Amino acid sequence: MAQRLKGKTIVITGASSGIGKSVALEFARTQPEDLKLVITARRIDTLKEVAKEIAGFAHGVKVHPVKLDVSKPDEIRSFVDQLPDEFKVVDVLVNNAGLVKGVAQAPNIASEDIAVMFDTNVTGLINMTQAILPIFKARPDGGRGDIINIGSIAGREPYQGGSIYCATKAAVRSFTDSLRKELIATRIRVIEIDPGQVETEFSVVRFNGDKEKAKKVYEGVEPLTGDDIAEVVVFAAGRRENVVLADTLVFPNHQA
Ligand code: NDP
Repeated sequence: MAQRLKGKTIVITGASSGIGKSVALEFARTQPEDLKLVITARRIDTLKEVAKEIAGFAHGVKVHPVKLDVSKPDEIRSFVDQLPDEFKVVDVLVNNAGLVKGVAQAPNIASEDIAVMFDTNVTGLINMTQAILPIFKARPDGGRGDIINIGSIAGREPYQGGSIYCATKAAVRSFTDSLRKELIATRIRVIEIDPGQVETEFSVVRFNGDKEKAKKVYEGVEPLTGDDIAEVVVFAAGRRENVVLADTLVFPNHQA
């Protein structure tokens, strides 16, 4: 697998924590010789820490940390325009940035929370995809690349109190499916990986920083770690070109 990743350029959104950070580390562990990682998120200082961590064990990996808020279309445009030459020919986009704000019945959800979830989880993911696809299509080797979207079980099985988050992840699922069909005749692979419960900052963000409430979500289940999902992402990117993990649900063993 490492051979197939050799020399590749991988762009990851939401790489400052949780699954996205794990994905960056896992790519570097799998191909420590010759790989280029563009790690993005809003917290640039945290991204620089991630870059430092990778530099500590994967000397052949070049890391380019970039401050990028995917909910801001102008930031996405300048991100692509300003990619340094050696990171310009992108091979893989991991659309991972996402969040959930609050737990509330649908009529009570604040309009700002609705906007932030859709702008990040849906429009951000679509805008990133639209920005990177022309790079795939213009490649001198005939137009190829991988779009790997991180969805959620919530996009398949909506739960009470999470209507907007669930709707965003259902939208991701629908968009991913359509895109895969539109690109069926090309060498571009469109991949969706849907995690079940993973212990990250995600739940803390949902409960606006309340760590006690965040922890309660995992009662009765040993949640996955970000690394568990990262292994699947890197596995998907490392398959030979004819193999696509189109739609994969990853659960902890005891999640219903
Ligand atoms: P984390 O909160 O740990 O990570 C979320 C990441 O997204 C952070 O790096 C954050 O970085 C980034 N992010 C949030 N908003 C933006 C934005 N507007 N622009 C750019 N980056 C942003 O949670 P997870 O790692 O768990 O979440 C990663 C993905 O996995 C999400 O899409 C989530 O929906 C999905 N998921 C998570 C599950 C779980 O149980 N944890 C289950 C199923 C799916 P920063 O704040 O620096 O911008």
